[in-house]
Amino acid sequence: MQYFSTNRHSPLTNFREATLRGQPDDLGLYFPSVIPQLSREFLGDLREMPNDQIAFEVIKPYVGDAIDEQSLLSICKETVDLSFPLVDISERISTLELFHGPTLAFKDVGARFMSRCLRHFAKEADQKTVVIVATSGDTGGAVAAGFHGVECIEVVILYPKGKVSRVQELQLTTLGGNVTALEVRGTFDDCQLLAKQALADPEIKEKLFLTSANSINVARWLPQQFYYFYALKQWEGEPPVFSVPSGNFGNICAGILAHVSGMPAGGFLAACNANTVVPDFLETAIYRPRPSIATLSNAMDVGNPSNFVRILEIFNNEFPTLKENLSAASVTDEETIATMLKVYDETGYTLDPHGAVGYKALADHLMDRPGQKGIVLETAHPVKFDSVSEILEVSVETPPSVLDLLNKEKVATEIEADQETVKEVILSRI
Ligand SMILES: *Cc1c(COP(=O)(O)O)cnc(C)c1O
Repeated sequence: MQYFSTNRHSPLTNFREATLRGQPDDLGLYFPSVIPQLSREFLGDLREMPNDQIAFEVIKPYVGDAIDEQSLLSICKETVDLSFPLVDISERISTLELFHGPTLAFKDVGARFMSRCLRHFAKEADQKTVVIVATSGDTGGAVAAGFHGVECIEVVILYPKGKVSRVQELQLTTLGGNVTALEVRGTFDDCQLLAKQALADPEIKEKLFLTSANSINVARWLPQQFYYFYALKQWEGEPPVFSVPSGNFGNICAGILAHVSGMPAGGFLAACNANTVVPDFLETAIYRPRPSIATLSNAMDVGNPSNFVRILEIFNNEFPTLKENLSAASVTDEETIATMLKVYDETGYTLDPHGAVGYKALADHLMDRPGQKGIVLETAHPVKFDSVSEILEVSVETPPSVLDLLNKEKVATEIEADQETVKEVILSRI
């Protein structure tokens, strides 16, 4: 499989290079040159197929000969060794719980897959790899957990002091081993700049292989297709509408990609909060990025969704085709709160704010479509957000992994937002 840049000014490359580089030099996004088609047998056997086999069959054409089949199968096994239950909430709406991974959010799957691909490439080249991540909270945790204990890989995390939640900080700072946490006296933007400077540093480049685990990386984006198959495997009846709480649009884009490969779906609904760039675009055909607005569903506070160009690419940048295949809705914080309360009162199910945005968008969408049913992707565990117990006035049951975390000791090195210090730390990791 070859990958091209959506900006079309970088050379074609394979899965290995696309993963190691993250982003093409022309600052586009890597995109597969053909969208593979799933076989009838595969789709027919889905219900009986183990999750790791599904993952392997779906991802194999995208990886091509960059990883041998035996190794790819074990990477898939390790990646999806989690549960993905489909739970009925009401008669027409079910939720696919994607929060049973180590950091209780769906980003775990992409991070786990990417880390194991990097391990494979590092071993092959016999070269130690350092991964640098700047985080405002959630992504760093998923990446840290995904890479923890993975041989041949060192991880350096930069996070802004005092600006992440307690649980998030513990997720970043208690792993130890190959994960080094740097607590930066500064903002998230400082952390991001430090990571960029390190990636461009000639001395670092000379001594080791440094890469980032950015969310646009193909090895994080493509495995998100797996969820949709796991949902269908547990589904009875006509293909469902998938409602996907969306921020950078990576997750929903992966679902649409799977659909274009032949996976049945009754439609895709991008559920957004007050950050309405895409819903506005579908209405007006004008794409107008803007600064993000803070909301209760903060992992979706994105003013210029990075993966949206990939969705446009799937539909050859043809607006009418896009509109036929993608719906979008925007949900306010007030509606999010009302939905959490209503669903809890009527069904006993606890939605987190991101899942509540997805639920509300889907419930409205289904009102005009009698007979149609749908699935909300529940992207995070409600315990991750303090707002949930405040809104519902109940305490959310804490999963054992979080209880464990609360007993652990934070280990982080506090630093100034200084390029040289970060460089020293990176060079000391080999
Ligand atoms: C990242 C994230 C999202 C948004 O996913 P995208 O792929 O960026 O659209 C939604 N919910 C939660 C909890 C997240 O962490």
